[in-house]
Amino acid sequence: MVAGQSGVERVYLDWAATAPLCEEAAEAMRPFLEPGRANLAHGMNANSLHTPGRAAFSDLQAARARVARCIGARRPDEVTFTSGATEADNAALFGLVFARVKAERQRGAKGYVPHVVTTTFEHEAVLQAVDVLRSLGCAVTLVAPDAQGFVDPEAVRAACTADTAVVSVMAANNELGTIQPVKELARAAHEAGALFHTDMVQLLGKAPVSMEEIGADAASFSAHKVCGPKGVGALYLRARTPFEPFVVGGGQEDGRRSGTQNVCGAVGFAAACEAACAAVQEEGARQRALRDRLYAELTARPNVRATIDVPAGSERHLPNIASVLVGGFESETLILRLDMLGFCVSGGSACSSTSLEPSHVLRAIGVSADDALGSLRVSIGRYTTEADVDAFVKAFDQALDWENR
Ligand code: PLP
Repeated sequence: MVAGQSGVERVYLDWAATAPLCEEAAEAMRPFLEPGRANLAHGMNANSLHTPGRAAFSDLQAARARVARCIGARRPDEVTFTSGATEADNAALFGLVFARVKAERQRGAKGYVPHVVTTTFEHEAVLQAVDVLRSLGCAVTLVAPDAQGFVDPEAVRAACTADTAVVSVMAANNELGTIQPVKELARAAHEAGALFHTDMVQLLGKAPVSMEEIGADAASFSAHKVCGPKGVGALYLRARTPFEPFVVGGGQEDGRRSGTQNVCGAVGFAAACEAACAAVQEEGARQRALRDRLYAELTARPNVRATIDVPAGSERHLPNIASVLVGGFESETLILRLDMLGFCVSGGSACSSTSLEPSHVLRAIGVSADDALGSLRVSIGRYTTEADVDAFVKAFDQALDWENR
């Protein structure tokens, strides 16, 4: 429970959209937010040669090493800080494709048309980057997940050609919570001579992550999904992966992402990431039990069904997302009623929640447009309690039977 505006106690159940800042991140960032002269000690330009600049650089490098350790990278310089995962997704798609085009030119290949393989249920940050590439002449193949929200490595293998520059498949879907077989997907891409990118945003902090073990060439991360600050993220690039930057300028971040670094944000990200990764097993089990309880309760209502099958205890699904379809309702109505009762949830992803279009993710797994309009995503996190879940279930019944509440 959190105190809300106008004195209403709020239960926040929209953690897949964003998470509140954790104590560890707030504490780590505090020195960077000291105003005036005190700010010289932390918070100067990490590229300056003077003492405050060198102090900022050392804070930045320490944060990089900590994030690298949490994601199981081999080296800290495989982590490039960005403004978030949207930028990291864009940078990965553009950067890997541009690098392949350049390499083909350099070896004198004539008429090379880069090919990209991705899926129909990616985040818009990937789908729209792919649209830009298509408008520039790239060939694109979109692979559909199955009806349960899983991508088959064989379908990806079949979609690849000798010209495939990049395969991009998210590690965990942000609406359904399905965890993809990224290691096999990376292998399928590599067998075709392509690079593999994965959007790790929803998986980080919910399951152990090891970039080295997955074998991906590039991956995207966002701080605010693990209780870090908003507006910071990271692009993982495996050492020696060919990459052409699209944010160019002063050459910061080893030339991969120009712009004065957000040291405070990077430090907050590192602290949040470490806290989330340290508690991953214990929190995973706790949240999974709450998710199972949510599914059991919600689907016991006659007009409610789970969007996909999520067996109790399933480790092929994120521990924190429950997605249901509520017959006879539009999700907007339910979201607003629940909000009036002090509960925050969403319908589909936050990005699509202001539009009445059915979610592209639900459409991708074959949910009808009508059913998709009644979708509700309830997502939990570190501060969610059993009492919150039980209170939500009661509020849900009131939202369904509004006139008699
Ligand atoms: N990818 C996925 C799977 C997400 O859930 C999100 C956040 O909504 C993003 C990318 C974008 O992250 P950011 O908000 O850091 O740009």
